[in-house]
Amino acid sequence: MSLSIDRKSGIAEQICQRLDRCLPKTTDLIQLHAPLFEGNEWAYVKDCLDTGWVSSVGKYVDRFEQQLAAYTGSQFCIATANGTLGLHVALLLLGVGAGDEVLIPDLTFVATANAVSYLGAIPHLVDVSEQTLGVDPVALRDYLSERTVRDSDGLVNRLTGRHIKALVVMHTFGHPAQLDEMLAVSEEFKLPLIEDAAESIGSLYKGKHTGRFGQIAVLSFNGNKTITTGGGGALLTDNSELAKRAKHLTTTAKVPHKWRFYHDCVGFNYRLPNINAALGCAQLEQLDRFIAMKRELAAQYRNAFDGMDGARFFIEPKDCRSNYWLNTLILEDKSGATLDEVLTVLNERQIQTRPAWDLMHTLPAFEHAPKMPTPVAEQLASSMLCIPSSPGLWQEK
Ligand SMILES: *Cc1c(COP(=O)(O)O)cnc(C)c1O
Repeated sequence: MSLSIDRKSGIAEQICQRLDRCLPKTTDLIQLHAPLFEGNEWAYVKDCLDTGWVSSVGKYVDRFEQQLAAYTGSQFCIATANGTLGLHVALLLLGVGAGDEVLIPDLTFVATANAVSYLGAIPHLVDVSEQTLGVDPVALRDYLSERTVRDSDGLVNRLTGRHIKALVVMHTFGHPAQLDEMLAVSEEFKLPLIEDAAESIGSLYKGKHTGRFGQIAVLSFNGNKTITTGGGGALLTDNSELAKRAKHLTTTAKVPHKWRFYHDCVGFNYRLPNINAALGCAQLEQLDRFIAMKRELAAQYRNAFDGMDGARFFIEPKDCRSNYWLNTLILEDKSGATLDEVLTVLNERQIQTRPAWDLMHTLPAFEHAPKMPTPVAEQLASSMLCIPSSPGLWQEK
């Protein structure tokens, strides 16, 4: 008994020591992910204030969209007020409606599941892979083969009788999921693929930007993401029809006219304000530098944790370049006891660390959601923690 307690606090202590080798010497709180405003942020936001263009129309929104499209290589980009609303529109555009099911990972931020619910649809939870932390294509394929049949309207969950309308893959902490394999599943079962790329701006899969594999993808620019607009998001797609409808629906479905207010369907006020886009343009100029700093920090962590017993640093999957949005440790003890201990010790020492999200199936809103067994997600949730990852933490060593 006392031996096992010793061993646990031993691990917390060892993690502290190894983190100390990488982090600045300070008694202040070291945040999990703090934004960095060192470029044109002040100038561009001031320009919005000086000219009065702060709201839903203005040059920065168009510019931000063009620059995001160019950066990712996507044909079209539609900025939204946040990533959650982007997901809502993406699902709507792909035909998800009330009573449908949408496959999403059990291990994700709640926004993915919430967006499905906004449409009256039901999240159907699937397991993830230990190699990528994203949806496991092999387990999913086996599960769908067994659990579904096709009727004239598409794929049907044999247990619930409901249609499964789409598959959402999420790039956890910036690490790309297995996109080739996900595309194969999406084709085999004729399920449109949506990428929740909220965490993966700048992350590449086989040299191509995440968010360019599904029919449509969503980015987020919340304050804790790799670049921020305060709040904000964007849709990426190569499909001109989807892009046109996305722009229309997110701008109150107003038919362009010099003075009339004619709206041809129920629309949404989901457009990113110009003042937020101004911040985004300045942040985007810094993105490559941020990613370089974040990858350097990750390399230092990787070295520091090399050979440690009881915990390992999660390394980007094969064939991928990750933005390392949130650096992650995985503990050997999957019981959750060591995780609690480590989180307590590190947070007490002003090193902000967080577990992964509580799994979707454990939240009251989704506890009755259909799901496949998710043993890997369960293990990861009780053994994984995110450690400070701000680009500004990197110091040349
Ligand atoms: C951040 C995030 C979102 C979107 O969040 P917003 O705060 O609405 O921009 C969606 N999915 C995941 C996985 C996220 O991490």
